[in-house]
Amino acid sequence: MFWQQDLETIDRKRLEEVQTGRLQDTVQRIWDNVPFYRDRINSAGTKPEDIKSVSDIKKLPFTSREDLLKNYPFGLVAVPRESIVRVHTSSGTTGKPKAIFFTKNDIDRGAELISRCLVMTGMRKNDVLQNMMTYGLFTGALVMHYGAEKVGVLVVPSGPGNTDRQIALMQDFKTTAIHITPSYALYLSNVFIRKGIDPRKDLNLKRAYLGAEPYSEETRKKIEEFFGIDVFNSYGLSEMNGPGVAFECQEKNGMHLWEDNFLLEIIDPATGEQVSDGERGEMVLTSLCREGMPIIRYRTRDLASVMPGKCPCGRTHRRITRITGRTDDMFIVKGVNIFPQQIENVLMGIKGVAQNYLIVLESLDHMTVQVEIEKELFDGNVTHLVNLQNAITEKLKNEILVKPKVELHEPGSLPASEGKAQRVIDNRTL
Ligand code: AMP
Ligand code: ZN
Repeated sequence: MFWQQDLETIDRKRLEEVQTGRLQDTVQRIWDNVPFYRDRINSAGTKPEDIKSVSDIKKLPFTSREDLLKNYPFGLVAVPRESIVRVHTSSGTTGKPKAIFFTKNDIDRGAELISRCLVMTGMRKNDVLQNMMTYGLFTGALVMHYGAEKVGVLVVPSGPGNTDRQIALMQDFKTTAIHITPSYALYLSNVFIRKGIDPRKDLNLKRAYLGAEPYSEETRKKIEEFFGIDVFNSYGLSEMNGPGVAFECQEKNGMHLWEDNFLLEIIDPATGEQVSDGERGEMVLTSLCREGMPIIRYRTRDLASVMPGKCPCGRTHRRITRITGRTDDMFIVKGVNIFPQQIENVLMGIKGVAQNYLIVLESLDHMTVQVEIEKELFDGNVTHLVNLQNAITEKLKNEILVKPKVELHEPGSLPASEGKAQRVIDNRTL
């Protein structure tokens, strides 16, 4: 079943016409209302009237994460301040966030896209969705919440954490679906085992929507088997509304990217040239309908490829593969975006910390920070070491919102690299 069959199975030629019209509108609006974009587009030697078809997208400049940071907070807003009804943020390189603004129509469209996604996976009015993503400045929970309400399902806005209460809510409200990060889903399965709860017998779960961070096909299978459910991959980013950008259908074989709302390009990150379907590259997305803060040719830094061929479900929007990596050094722990630079900034501001440090990623929700400290500290009092370790842990937690394990090392004991330092060791098996 479909939520908007006409749009979901739209003929590719007609889709291109829709995209062209929307791209032209978007470019005209940012040209008229966003001085930053007007300058950029002008410098690229392009005028709004040069955009005559989707392929003219190449005449437009890219937008980078740094552009968003530079224009923080209101620099990319394309509507009068009174039309903005919500702001969300996403973490940036230096801890300074990117701000994303929504008009009422943006919120409705975001909800519309989530409705497509949920109905596509089989959700109906009598379902109960426990939304275990973080409510607040992150887009994850709220955008999903509004979309689920639009479909008419009962939403349990539990947010993450407090596992005992989550289980009680699942039992009391007969939850049929959960929206959750893969790392929390794995954690939850361990708690169930400890408590002797068998979700197949003791709960009513049928589906889970997993996103916000990378995970593998093996993890999906593990979660599906343990809970006795179908797991659907959900991809999104705050810059493009949050969740609902691309989502798996019941084939569970690639995510349909809603191309009437987002123009997709996959490029070679080194040259900026588009690659062919099936070839892996960096996803570049242009918002086609956003009013509050349209973004053109956004370098997501997420690596994926377009899956060639038609999906048996009948939807004509192209499918992307799982995100297989990122072009930058950002990593995600417990669903939170973290940049090594943030860790470095904190460490280097603490007295007693020496030059070298290493971030070791153990799993999707555990990281260790190994820090070299000044030699003299090892000769002194053990209490001083413990205090220093606690202070580093606390300061890191305040900055990155995730509590790492901190290990103190003697100077010169961590591997030092020649050339570009390798700060992150990824031991996660996805
Ligand atoms: P945020 O803007 O904070 O919502 O973070 C968006 C980033 O999370 C994306 O650019 C991806 O790197 C990552 N992400 C979101 N969904 C997925 C997914 N299903 N698989 C892998 N990575 C994801
Ligand atoms: Zn499909």
